[in-house]
Amino acid sequence: MSPVELAPDAIRETMLPYGRQSVSEEDIRLVAEVLRSDWLTTGPVVERFERAFAERVGAAEAVALSSGTAALHAAMFALAVGPGDEVIVPAMTFAATANAVVFQGATPVFADISPDTLLVDPADVERRVTPRTRAIVAVDYAGQPCDYGQLRPLARRRNLALVADAAHSLGGADPPTTGPVGSLADLSAFSLHPVKAITTGEGGMVTTDDVGCAERIRRFRNHGFSRDYRGREAAGSWQYKMTELGYNYRLTDIQSALGLGQLARLDGWMARRSEISARYDRALAGIEGVRPLAVRSGVRHARHLYVVRIEAGAFGLDRRAAYKALRRRRIGVGVHYLPVHLHPFYRRRFGTAPGLCPNAEAAYEEILSLPIFPAMSDDDVDDVIRALERTRKPRSADPTPLCRERERGRG
Ligand SMILES: *Cc1c(COP(=O)(O)O)cnc(C)c1O
Repeated sequence: MSPVELAPDAIRETMLPYGRQSVSEEDIRLVAEVLRSDWLTTGPVVERFERAFAERVGAAEAVALSSGTAALHAAMFALAVGPGDEVIVPAMTFAATANAVVFQGATPVFADISPDTLLVDPADVERRVTPRTRAIVAVDYAGQPCDYGQLRPLARRRNLALVADAAHSLGGADPPTTGPVGSLADLSAFSLHPVKAITTGEGGMVTTDDVGCAERIRRFRNHGFSRDYRGREAAGSWQYKMTELGYNYRLTDIQSALGLGQLARLDGWMARRSEISARYDRALAGIEGVRPLAVRSGVRHARHLYVVRIEAGAFGLDRRAAYKALRRRRIGVGVHYLPVHLHPFYRRRFGTAPGLCPNAEAAYEEILSLPIFPAMSDDDVDDVIRALERTRKPRSADPTPLCRERERGRG
């Protein structure tokens, strides 16, 4: 948008996005190197990326896939989730978490969240277990690891598989009792989309200590062929056998080269995300009606999103109005997420409706994701704070509609 069209109350000329990748010249060099090599896909750089990723998260196996959604789908396939089965997923997540269950012909059962962290509530998960339940998918919402110390024994007791949707939480950990995200559940699915902790453009990863599951996923991402690229010396022969229905969910060597470059910088980015979060924490303590989510003590939060609840009474505007006002000021706030059971597809297909997960539904009315990404400067953070301060309507003012029009012009 040109400066001429800039709203009078904008505090920046261009929109500050809620998330953004950082790509270095070294990343570009690594990608170019692959482009000059023999293998653009299904080659050695994919394996190198997988090994580096597995090592990073403390898992025995890592399998690269074409997206985080493919990673979740592969996890459901590896567990042999199918028609007639139920899988418990939190209501507060990106639709892909539940979609992966539907891809396999199974039924997602939505569990509610704790209102303070927006993480799935283990007690509610337990209430929703039935004889048909096969697995639990925990989502490390905003980058905070779920309470695996409770979820793991629960899954074991009820004989269920535990999957982590770790799309937000690469680099997070739950020390000292457990460990890094990627080693906290039976299978962990990551996304490598540009807004996530590291990127390959599009991409995903599943990590696990179960060698059998890893092999199933390697077949699944390659049409269900009995050999993956690990058998590439046989390529060109006709001896591929399709043992199960699979997909083309492969990640390329080009993408994996970018992933390797990115993974090497994860620690620095995690540190920067923590600094930005701390700066928000300090500033927001002084702004009434803007409440950050709680952080469980002892966890290492990956800080993928910085989510606040806008409390309409104290803030003077509800979340919907605050969202609009902040976007007008060129602050690219987001809303993560509409609870999955409220999407028209789920209502139609599974008959879900409001009232199913009251905490998620109430949270949805109040949540706002503030911009956070490693390349964001302190000045950018201060712009967000300033925009929030200017957007807030002090309780006493309670302006008439006419005044509200004037205020909009002033910024
Ligand atoms: C991003 C995301 C996904 C899907 O990842 P893609 O790589 O975009 O397919 C799944 N679950 C959650 C919670 C996500 O944020």
